[in-house]
Amino acid sequence: MQLYNSLSHKKEDFIPRESGKVSMYTCGPTVYHYAHIGNLRSYIMEDILEKYLRFTGLDVTRVMNITDVGHLTSDGDTGDDKMLKGAKREKKTVMEIAKFYTDAFFADCKKLNIKTPDVVEPATSCIDDFIRVIEGLIEKGFAYEAGGNIYFDTSRLEKYYVFNDFKEEDLAVGVREGVEEDSNKRNKADFVLWFTKSKFDDQELKWDSPWGIGYPGWHIECSCISMKHLGEYLDIHCGGIDNAFPHHTNEIAQSEAYIGHKWCNYWFHVLHLNTNSGKMSKSTGEFLTVSLLEEKGYNPLVYRYFCLLSHYRKSLVFTWENLDNAVTSYNKLVEKLVPLVKDKSGETDSAEYDRLMKGFTDALDNDLNTSLAITAVYDVLKSKANAATKLALLAEFDKVLGIGLISAAEKLAESAESGAADIPQEVLDLIEQRKAARKEKNFALADELRDKIAALGYEVKETRQGTEINKI
Ligand SMILES: [Zn+2]
Repeated sequence: MQLYNSLSHKKEDFIPRESGKVSMYTCGPTVYHYAHIGNLRSYIMEDILEKYLRFTGLDVTRVMNITDVGHLTSDGDTGDDKMLKGAKREKKTVMEIAKFYTDAFFADCKKLNIKTPDVVEPATSCIDDFIRVIEGLIEKGFAYEAGGNIYFDTSRLEKYYVFNDFKEEDLAVGVREGVEEDSNKRNKADFVLWFTKSKFDDQELKWDSPWGIGYPGWHIECSCISMKHLGEYLDIHCGGIDNAFPHHTNEIAQSEAYIGHKWCNYWFHVLHLNTNSGKMSKSTGEFLTVSLLEEKGYNPLVYRYFCLLSHYRKSLVFTWENLDNAVTSYNKLVEKLVPLVKDKSGETDSAEYDRLMKGFTDALDNDLNTSLAITAVYDVLKSKANAATKLALLAEFDKVLGIGLISAAEKLAESAESGAADIPQEVLDLIEQRKAARKEKNFALADELRDKIAALGYEVKETRQGTEINKI
């Protein structure tokens, strides 16, 4: 498989260090609020990567952290404490907030068919590990104490800016932007490993350390949690492109300074989800969550499908109209599968199976080209293969794609069978009248008709898949 490696700025063959095994690390969420669907785009694409590596027979161990320590709203070492902000907003303790939003994150992941990583580790359970690594960095001369905090000394590195070829001065401006300078830092790019003096006097979570009572910086989390579970060598590290600098840059700096050799071979970064007005964020525009999609009647798996239609290294524009287009194309695919799930007859034709499977694996082998993998789904449906062959292929594809086409088709086939046949004509007429009323936006009449239908023993619901009728 070929993957683009942000470290080398080119596509490379993906070769795990230990044959047949992959160690994979993902930066997890900061659990002070719901994840927006832009964050979740990264987790969907990383899930596809993990599942595809497994699909090709590799034994993947994937680790993810949960940032439940006060993490700053800015990626520099400044801004507000996100966790504390969440706690104040909701009048809960920081740990209550962390628990609530960790559960919410995994509930969203489940709806999006995102597999939970093999190891999920909250930062608050690894404080001793952070302290040990920071002590090691001080011993090796890579960290210093200033003004009560411990800083990483970036001037000790041969190369600090690993992901880009920008000039140091240009990036330093980015780091400084809108932020007061921390006069304790020896170099502009230095970052905090441990805080004892911060501007948050009321920081809720604090721990004792050799440098006084305080709390860890954000970046040290991922280095330590990765090394704790995956050892000194990491095959692939994933995250949203926002994390490349400074977060991943700092992870590499401190990990390699600590272990004394190269740490991670491949870096996989997913580009932004944008809205028409720019990058999606929690603070600007509509706060787009999985729950909001559901409230508006969208199946979360259609959002997953929408993400797969674009390459992970291109930014993707989210609009309701774009999502509606994905709904239409998803529903068409499901409809095409209905005759297949009704007639599963035939023996699998292995020549056709292999040929069509190759279309799918070729797409994903080429830097995880998911939109071509969806084209491979269409190729299967268009092919002359029998139903058994097509279903066998689509079931295999869905182990990676996770968009649930077969189960959606089975549901649709079932509801079509149990549906219209035994509904009385009177009810069917009322349903038609109600559809017309809704079309004319005469919602009062539509509601009146719904009540009449209910009086006859039927419940009518509008979903994205169309009108659903059930016996009460
Ligand atoms: Zn991280």
